[in-house]
Amino acid sequence: MSVTAKPLIIPIFIPHAGCPHQCVFCNQQAITGSTAVLPTPAHIRSVVHDFLSYKRDIRTGVELSFYGGNFLGLPAKTIQDLLDQASEFAGTGHIDGIRFSTRPDTVDGDRLNLLRPYPVSTLELGVQSLNDAVLRQAGRGHTAADAVNAATLLKENNYRVGLQMMTGLPGDKDALCLSTARQIIALKPDFVRIYPTLVIHGSRLADLYQQGLYTPQNLMDCVVQLKTLVLLFQENRIPVIRMGLQASDGLDDPSIVLAGPYHPALGHMVYSEILLDAAAKKLKDRQTPHQTVRITVHPRSLSRMQGLNKTNIEILKRRFHIQTLHLATDSSLDSDSVRVE
Ligand code: SF4
Repeated sequence: MSVTAKPLIIPIFIPHAGCPHQCVFCNQQAITGSTAVLPTPAHIRSVVHDFLSYKRDIRTGVELSFYGGNFLGLPAKTIQDLLDQASEFAGTGHIDGIRFSTRPDTVDGDRLNLLRPYPVSTLELGVQSLNDAVLRQAGRGHTAADAVNAATLLKENNYRVGLQMMTGLPGDKDALCLSTARQIIALKPDFVRIYPTLVIHGSRLADLYQQGLYTPQNLMDCVVQLKTLVLLFQENRIPVIRMGLQASDGLDDPSIVLAGPYHPALGHMVYSEILLDAAAKKLKDRQTPHQTVRITVHPRSLSRMQGLNKTNIEILKRRFHIQTLHLATDSSLDSDSVRVE
């Protein structure tokens, strides 16, 4: 995985808009802190201007995104109205494209025809699982075949495709999750997002949890599972652009996230574990004694190599009886490479 600039995404939340029902794990209004179902043109304008005024950096391209609902499940006229509003910013050069997330069972030829006049570049599909029994328990209301067909149709139409999967869903197991990841890889998405299941206030999962019918993953089990998934996606050159919900004040509130592996630095923890494993493997393979060791990583990976509260350093020193451990950086390295000397 090399370090590349990412597009700046301007999110416009449309909580539950276009959803045929509420999936078991979901409560977008609690997650996004927003109760407005559809944004007004004035709201879109103000979000775009806010983002562009303080977040212009080295990113490649700017995309306006509609998240938190089922975009293609909206009435055709609403889809066109929102795309008309978003397109204005493309016309003035403020954004380069439009993206949105949608359910697999809303992707068909008619809906894609609606998009053709607009600069829609990226679609994200909420796949969640590619196991029908898991999808049933999650109350998704679509099958794995729907997700495969939707992803295939989007690729055929040359869209950039992101697939979102979840871990820890009711009835899911490590092996089923791994199988979902392998099937996702076979669909050749441009990127994936991985969301561990959280117990969100106001969701049906919260009722199951409170009745003792659902046990969430603990944080460390989740990190270990994510590590396996990330390595698998890395091997197949598929970027994982996000793990876990975006940190926000609401998610730190225990009356909103009732249980589950929420951590504001979840992705950081996973990548720290990956670098810890990589450094440990190199140290194990070394023939020379370990009194003084220098570990070199890409500058952007330095804090990942250190781990939260520098725990990785302490672990390595203890495990390999290292007296002095120096950390150094080298920008010619890939962000997942570790050099040990
Ligand atoms: S998971 Fe997606 S489709 Fe299901 S309720 Fe939430 S936003 Fe709607």
